[in-house]
Amino acid sequence: MYPKNFQNLIDQFTDLPSVGPKMAERLVLSLFKADKEKAESFSEALRSLHNVHTCAQCFNITESDLCLICANTGRDCDTLCVVEDPLDIIPIERARTYNGLYHVLGGTVSGQKSDHLKIHELENRLSATSIREIIIATNFTTEGDMTALFLQKRLTAIIQEKNILLTRLVRGLATGSDIEYADDLTLKSSLTNRTEMI
Ligand SMILES: [Zn+2]
Repeated sequence: MYPKNFQNLIDQFTDLPSVGPKMAERLVLSLFKADKEKAESFSEALRSLHNVHTCAQCFNITESDLCLICANTGRDCDTLCVVEDPLDIIPIERARTYNGLYHVLGGTVSGQKSDHLKIHELENRLSATSIREIIIATNFTTEGDMTALFLQKRLTAIIQEKNILLTRLVRGLATGSDIEYADDLTLKSSLTNRTEMI
């Protein structure tokens, strides 16, 4: 049995996604062995997470009111890319093809439930701005496909009323794949060849 505080930290790590008990033990042991300065800096970084919250406009991760993308006046404000999670933004940015804004849904529809998603906020954005195109960039998984269809139905009225183009990334990405893990070239082609959802 490990000492209580050691085991406590192992349990905290094990609660994180993709971290099993063995990996958690190795991480905690490595922190224990690290010099005091390194352990302190890890602890400080963890505490600083309190300063991180979601962007008031797009729900990306930020330490300010608006995230760096929303605050950047050089971005194309006519195009909105809808993603499931903030982590999906990083590979799209890395592909250097897209210069519009984002909207982070915060997950996928579950059954027909969508209350946990920022869809109402998306509708408000569409009403209040001059967005000309919405690119649905949900993952190519069953949940991602269901969410794309759900959005298509839900947004039909406002899209028609404001004459907004609704597109989705083309399936250069394999079925079942997460945008988060897509390589730059595939994402680039997936964005460039996006197709209209009808
Ligand atoms: Zn933002």
